[in-house]
Formats: sequence, structure tokens, C-alpha cells
Amino acid sequence: MAEAYHSQAHVGFAARLLAWWDEHGRKDLPWQHPRTPYRVWVSEIMLQQTQVTTVIPYFRRFMTRFPDVHSLAGSDLDEVLHYWSGLGYYARARNLHRAALLVADELGGVLPETPNALQELPGVGRSTAAAIAAQAYGIRAPILDGNVKRVLARQHRLPGPVSSSKTQKELWRLAERHTPRDRVADYTQAIMDLGATICRRARPQCSLCPVRGSCQALATRDVERFPERAGGRNRRLERRRYFVLVEPAGRCLVERRPELGIWGGLWSPPEREANETLESFLAVAGIHRDLVDEVHAGAPFRHGFSHFDLAVEPVYVRLKAVPTAAHERGGRWIRPGEHALGLSAVAAKLIEANAW
Ligand code: SF4
Repeated sequence: MAEAYHSQAHVGFAARLLAWWDEHGRKDLPWQHPRTPYRVWVSEIMLQQTQVTTVIPYFRRFMTRFPDVHSLAGSDLDEVLHYWSGLGYYARARNLHRAALLVADELGGVLPETPNALQELPGVGRSTAAAIAAQAYGIRAPILDGNVKRVLARQHRLPGPVSSSKTQKELWRLAERHTPRDRVADYTQAIMDLGATICRRARPQCSLCPVRGSCQALATRDVERFPERAGGRNRRLERRRYFVLVEPAGRCLVERRPELGIWGGLWSPPEREANETLESFLAVAGIHRDLVDEVHAGAPFRHGFSHFDLAVEPVYVRLKAVPTAAHERGGRWIRPGEHALGLSAVAAKLIEANAW
């Protein structure tokens, strides 16, 4: 019985999914009209780690400013980061810009067609390459993003955390097996839609699911156990102190963050270790203590990342004059809402909360 059940699991999986998508799927997404390779590519990069509803307004603004690969390649990275501000995972924007330069300069402005060639572009991994190839060119290539992993892990009651190489290998094998020869673009969209709207991480809507008949996790009533998580559920907490320096005209100092690490290349009020004192910060920054007019601690808050939480401790420092040292070190003074720099979400929040 178990074998018969299992053998039915993939027969018709794609057909049932496509029939559901024909009736209920999302067909009005902005990157579907027109579904050009460039638009599909940008959308797939934005959709990595980010939900469709969040991406849509960013995608629209991005397309208005950078309608094709040449306009993206010809623009300044700072401006690209500005249009990405708030979307998170900024390495994506830097890689997209680098890849656009490569496509414009070395490939005549034409995005490669095959998954292997697409994977040569910065920021394009195996699943993203497959999603672009399938949707832009109709090439049969299995995808395996977070949504698809969840659907397949539940369909097959796959043991082991999805981060383990053994489970990854098995997931790719299953993804390959389920991907149909025909209508691959629609299937790719359909399985992503299923994961995003029905087979959700919490409280999946199994009663509405078109592939519930073959779902092994549903059959054993332990859907939410899959995909299994690695280790415990404790999240790492990192504390950081942010010094928000405010000059007499109300502008705040920002500095460019290192390329590597969170918010790489974006601008932010100076971020330091949580035990950094104002005195040592000023001394290292070359700002004389006599320039300080008033100091107050801002309300601390947390910002969540996929693997850890950042505890933000703001220190607001009003200055009597603009210190020259800040400029010498590449800092810039900006006013809330009056800038065209890529700011992290935390940086924007800190600057907007400035009451001086
Ligand atoms: S039946 Fe439920 S758990 Fe199984 S694939 Fe469908 S939504 Fe996901």
C-alpha cells in the first residue's frame, strides 16, 4: 500500500499543480507583463528571500528608473542601492549591478539562455538560473527556492534539515523528477505560488491544496514538522551601538559600510561595538569633546535577520559645529528624507527618529 501510494506521488503532480494554477495562480505580476529576460532576471533576484507583495512596488520603481540592462549598467552603484533601500540583502543589488555591467559590456546586452551560462553571472545560483531559464526562455530546468523546498519536503516527508547536503541532494532529485517537459514556465510559477500562498510555513491550507492527495506529511498529520530545522530554535543576538551625530542645521552623519557583511556598501550612522563609549568613539573619529553640545540615548530596538537579531542601541549626539574630521574620513551629512544614498532600514529609522 505504501509503495502504491508513493508511486502515485509524482504521477500527475505537475498536471494537478498546473490545473490549479490555471484557475487560481497569480497571473498579473508586473514581471509577467511583458515577461522579458531582463525583467524576469531582476524579479528573481528581488524575490530571493523576499515575498512577492514586498517586491512588487520595489520592482515597479526599479523598472521605471532602470528599464533595461543598459540603463542599469550605466548607473552609479549608489543609485542602485538607493532604489534597493529597504528591500534587504544588499549583496543582491551589488551583484545585480556587476552582472549588468558584464552583460552590457561582454554579452552585447543579451542575457544568456542556458542555466549553466546564467549561473556564471554574479548573484545567480542554481535555482535562480533555472527560474530565469524556465520563465524567460521556456527551458526545462528544476528550481528549488525556499518555497519549493518546503512543498517537496512535506510531499515526501523528507527527513533531515534542508541545509544538510544529503537533504539538498534529495530535494534536487525530487525537483528534477517533478518538473514537466511542457509548460515549464507556468509550472515554475505554479510551484512557487503554491509554496507562497497555500503550503505556507505556518498554518498551511492543506484543504485547498491541489496536491494534497499525494502529500505524505498530510497523510501522517505532521505537516508543520517539515521541513525539519537544524539544531535548536535559539536565534543569535548581536548588540551594536549607533552614534547619530547631529550638526547645528539638523543634518546627521552617515558613513559607508564595508562591502562585506550586513548592508555592505550602504550608508549608515556610525555603527560600533555595544561597549564602545562616546569618549572612545569621538577620540577615534578625531572629533574634539568640546564640540559636543548634548547627548541622549535613543530608544533601543531590534531588527530581525534570517539567522540572528540585531539589538540596536542608539546614542544621539548634538554638535555645536560641523567637525572637519568627519569629512576627511569620507562621511556625509544628510537630512531625513532628503538624500539619494542607499540607507539600511535601521539607518533610515535612526535618522528619522532624530528629534533635534
Ligand atoms: S497538502 Fe498541505 S503540506 Fe502537503 S503540499 Fe499541500 S499544502 Fe503543503
